Amino acid sequence: MHVSKYIKIYPLEEKPESILVYSTKKASVSVLKKQLLESAERGSLSSESLATLSDLGVIISEGMDEKRSMLGFIDGINRSDTGMSVTVVLNMDCNFACVYCYEGDMKGKLYMSLETADHVVEFIKNRFSETKKSINIDFFGGEPLLSKDLIVYISRAVKSFAESKGAEYTFSLVSNGSLFKRKVAGELKALGMQNVKITLDGTAELHNRCRPFKGGGGSFDILIRNIKDTCDIVKVGIGGNFGRKNFKDFPRLLDYLEGEGLGPGKISQVKFDPVMGREKGDTSPADFVDGCMSINEPWLVEAGLYLREEILKRGYSTPKILPMPCQVELKNFYVVHFDGTLYKCPGFIGKKGFETGNVREGMTDYSDSHKLDIWKDDECLGCEYLPLCFGGCKYMTYLREGRVDRKDCKKPYLDATLGAMVKQDIRYRRKTKGA
Ligand code: SF4
Ligand code: SF4
Repeated sequence: MHVSKYIKIYPLEEKPESILVYSTKKASVSVLKKQLLESAERGSLSSESLATLSDLGVIISEGMDEKRSMLGFIDGINRSDTGMSVTVVLNMDCNFACVYCYEGDMKGKLYMSLETADHVVEFIKNRFSETKKSINIDFFGGEPLLSKDLIVYISRAVKSFAESKGAEYTFSLVSNGSLFKRKVAGELKALGMQNVKITLDGTAELHNRCRPFKGGGGSFDILIRNIKDTCDIVKVGIGGNFGRKNFKDFPRLLDYLEGEGLGPGKISQVKFDPVMGREKGDTSPADFVDGCMSINEPWLVEAGLYLREEILKRGYSTPKILPMPCQVELKNFYVVHFDGTLYKCPGFIGKKGFETGNVREGMTDYSDSHKLDIWKDDECLGCEYLPLCFGGCKYMTYLREGRVDRKDCKKPYLDATLGAMVKQDIRYRRKTKGA
């Protein structure tokens, strides 16, 4: 037996005789006696201990070419995935005027037509195969609830198709939350709605400055009212976009939510993300220049760990650290723009050269335009972070460099944060194996 390449080992201050081992391939966490890995290599462990360590992804069988097996990792996910996931951009219109909106100058009174919606439904039917057990749509905008009738129209058709195939249809909304009233939630729940993600950028003052209505009025109180009125009907997740100057204000939002009765029992998930920067030449909106252009910007280490800690210590759920290829690499993910053009990532909407077909004529080959194999070299295959990275975020590389044929290497960021994140998970929510 050999120790896997795809593990990280961290010291445990409170248990100096033990080490913390995190498998990036299996997302497993174990606390092991220091000499255990050496004993495994020497072949002096019991078969029971070997089986446990192998299950945890800490050791691999003699003779296994682990680097080579990683070449097929994403194909394996694609083969075993029984779901189909489609992001549908219903419009490019919005009743908010967020200071950092990345859709910038693409926004306007642009709505999906009924004819395109019919093609979306046909496209889903054509791509569905008998091995699939579920179809999920993420309705996106602009503001998707400005197209509520279309959500109902598409959902009725896809739900009936899915049920005829013995599959489940669910959908979610990425919404600004202002139109998400109790009656709307009830109506959409009956059609398969599972969750809504609503963005709150800090407490009232900061949020109202960052995410006002188009007319300039604050939106915070309306959103809190709507969340209270709907969180017993569908799962409500809270998102938030922070910058380097305001991230320390976000925990006050969590305190406020708890004070308003919106604690972890009412909010399904909390996740804060840095505001993204813009590609060169895009100046809209003109007064916003604070976006992040790389996950390796040093301030993100402090901000990311600080906010994750504040979320977890209050008992809210936030995404786990998991092997996660970019959705561009995953076959069963599609993004449909309001005009029917297909993409692989919402970030690339409207970017020339990143179209992957359209719902009328089907998908085109995007492996070269999106440089799918960029991580299949010695550097990445030999990197312990590969299962968490796969060459990083292509959209970030595009923003920074206007091209995607270079990696967005997360090594510096993961070197600085992964151990601390694993320890946060142990402290607040995770069961570990010990030996
Ligand atoms: S390119 Fe980046 S933003 Fe787009 S799906 Fe991949 S990881 Fe996500
Ligand atoms: S891009 Fe960097 S962090 Fe990601 S797998 Fe390759 S070497 Fe590792």
